[in-house]
Amino acid sequence: MTAARVGAASDRGVVRQANEDSYLVAEAVFAVADGMGGHAAGDVASELAVAALAEVTADRELTEEVLRKAVSAANDAIRLDGRKHPIRAGMGTTLTGLALVSVAGSPHWLVFNVGDSRVYRWWDGELTRLTVDHSEVEALVGSGELTLDEASRHPLSNVVTRALGTHLSVEPDVWVFPPTPGERFLLCSDGLTLELTHERIAAVLGAEDDPQRAADTLVAEAVEAGGRDNVTVVVVDVPPSAAEPDGATVPRGER
Ligand code: CA
Repeated sequence: MTAARVGAASDRGVVRQANEDSYLVAEAVFAVADGMGGHAAGDVASELAVAALAEVTADRELTEEVLRKAVSAANDAIRLDGRKHPIRAGMGTTLTGLALVSVAGSPHWLVFNVGDSRVYRWWDGELTRLTVDHSEVEALVGSGELTLDEASRHPLSNVVTRALGTHLSVEPDVWVFPPTPGERFLLCSDGLTLELTHERIAAVLGAEDDPQRAADTLVAEAVEAGGRDNVTVVVVDVPPSAAEPDGATVPRGER
């Protein structure tokens, strides 16, 4: 079977002092985490999250249950670190991603999300967001008080209502579906969608066949457009003819 092709890129941007985003590119798990908290705690939180995810999911058959355990372990790891290092208490992170899991013996994608980083699917010339942000403004969009376009420029657009590390336990949103040959996924932190419109992101994904070049271009354009936040992108391509990818070609490893 043919492996998925993956590209990943991350940049501090123009304004922020540090890059508090982290990402994971492992054999069958891909994730983006966007940390928050003072005293450089945000980057610790996002790194702990992807490290816990990598550890729990390594070398075992992945199922929804394993993924949920991994998200829970990530939450515990951040809270434990916050107790050991009070200066980082209260730190948190988003965590979103994509894993190839087994459902009754057949491979399925599982998309998971906590917070306002996002997973999109690019298929047949169309870009569709799969995740729902856990944010103040998404709630306003849900109730019809804001349009999607207004939401992206809203002053509360960075206020998340669910995160890892901030509560005793956390439940990710989860979506499970079978792979389709030729589909492409985009995982990103909100630094991308803050700077680039949905249409521009779709145009880049349609123009750049190579996933690493697509990731590099998206990040470069977001920085060029203002770079007001850290920006992180992971692009995962399902091979055109193999419906059942059994793992990934890892370009750079985890960060
Ligand atoms: Ca961010």
